[in-house]
Amino acid sequence: MFDYLIVGAGFAGSILAERLASQLDKKVLIVDRRNHIGGNAYDHYNSDGVLVHKYGPHIFHTNSREVFEYLSLFTAWYPYEHRVLASVDGQLVPIPINLDTINKLYGLNLTTFQVEEFFASVAEPRDRILTSEDVVVSKVGQELYEKFFRNYTRKQWGIDPSELDRSVTARVPTRTNRDDRYFTDMYQSMPLHGFTRMFENILNHSNIKVMLNTDYREIQKIIPYKEMIYTGPVDEFFDYRFGKLPYRSLEFKHETHDKPVFQSAPVVNYPNEHPYTRVTEFKYLTGQDHAKTSIVYEFPQAEGDPYYPVPRPENADLYKQYKALADKTPGVYFVGRLATYKYYNMDQVVAQALTIFKQIHSKESLEVAINC
Ligand code: FAD
Ligand code: UDP
Repeated sequence: MFDYLIVGAGFAGSILAERLASQLDKKVLIVDRRNHIGGNAYDHYNSDGVLVHKYGPHIFHTNSREVFEYLSLFTAWYPYEHRVLASVDGQLVPIPINLDTINKLYGLNLTTFQVEEFFASVAEPRDRILTSEDVVVSKVGQELYEKFFRNYTRKQWGIDPSELDRSVTARVPTRTNRDDRYFTDMYQSMPLHGFTRMFENILNHSNIKVMLNTDYREIQKIIPYKEMIYTGPVDEFFDYRFGKLPYRSLEFKHETHDKPVFQSAPVVNYPNEHPYTRVTEFKYLTGQDHAKTSIVYEFPQAEGDPYYPVPRPENADLYKQYKALADKTPGVYFVGRLATYKYYNMDQVVAQALTIFKQIHSKESLEVAINC
């Protein structure tokens, strides 16, 4: 008898498996319907020997010391600060928009002080910042919004920024200095030997059994277990009882080129041209030295594997219905980006999994105390 059946071997499932096995001596069966561990963070060496991320670029960054120290139990790190260029008006300029972006785009030579004045002169203040359009237009005005955000967002999400929560474009700040890093978190590093190797280390415990190519519904009734941790889409768990929760999908087009470098930045965003949103060149992210180079294009899709919850009020309302049902489902914990319908980065999922583990731990300690 397993103590836990864990559905999904991504960050949420793998970390809970590890904590339950190593800290509470629980017997865990972790299943994934894919043919690999790691969830969307899975990486592998392609047929040319280049380390690539199967499901698009995954860059680790966090401000949480607890999260960083926890993952450091399972990997060494390659220090990496991410940088992105956007293709706008025939030029490649830094995104997040900063001092250099404005100077290059408009052929100016402004100082930080002057660019602050420039933003103040073009910004269109709004009484309430509710949508992804409000966030950008209230900071940098209509023109920059149209050049960098409007079409990228329409392409990525299939709806206008005015229909998306502010939290989506608020992920990308505006700067008046020359800092061109995509993230400013305290910890910015990539697992030295890749994400998959890190997951192998996380799951390497004698109390953990891993079963791949298996939907949990195939084995749920055959293999006995006491409690479940579910990290798949929450609406699917309940057979879409209240209707489908919208998730945005992507199609990835991977290519390898017979030259060491393909583009001048790790990621180039294409807000206005092409059906794809961005192109990632993996060697920048991983630090790998190789005569060839591999890239991936991301083509947003309405249908396909669920990758992004879509943050907007009607979806939050629908999710609330599923959340109420989940809260009333005994013996099942819902964890991770799909099961809690949150646009979470990897570190946020790690933090969420560690929190759920602490809850399980306290519950057990309480039960032991009561039984004594
Ligand atoms: P997942 O990784 O989705 O794992 C869930 C697993 O459950 C999957 O493997 C799935 O196959 C399995 N599953 C579902 N249903 C079943 C079932 N019925 N039976 C068996 N198995 C099932 N985060 C960052 O921090 N930095 C980034 O740069 C970044 N880039 C991203 C780029 C893209 C294109 C995407 C899509 C996401 C990105 N993320 C990034 C987010 C990151 O992928 C997630 O935060 C993280 O992987 C979520 O982990 P999870 O365990 O919640 O879910
Ligand atoms: N975004 C944009 N233009 C850009 C970069 C981002 O419009 O050049 C918007 C877009 O809506 C995107 C969101 O900001 O989905 C968040 O961007 P991020 O790079 O964080 O997306 P992710 O890496 O999660 O796909």
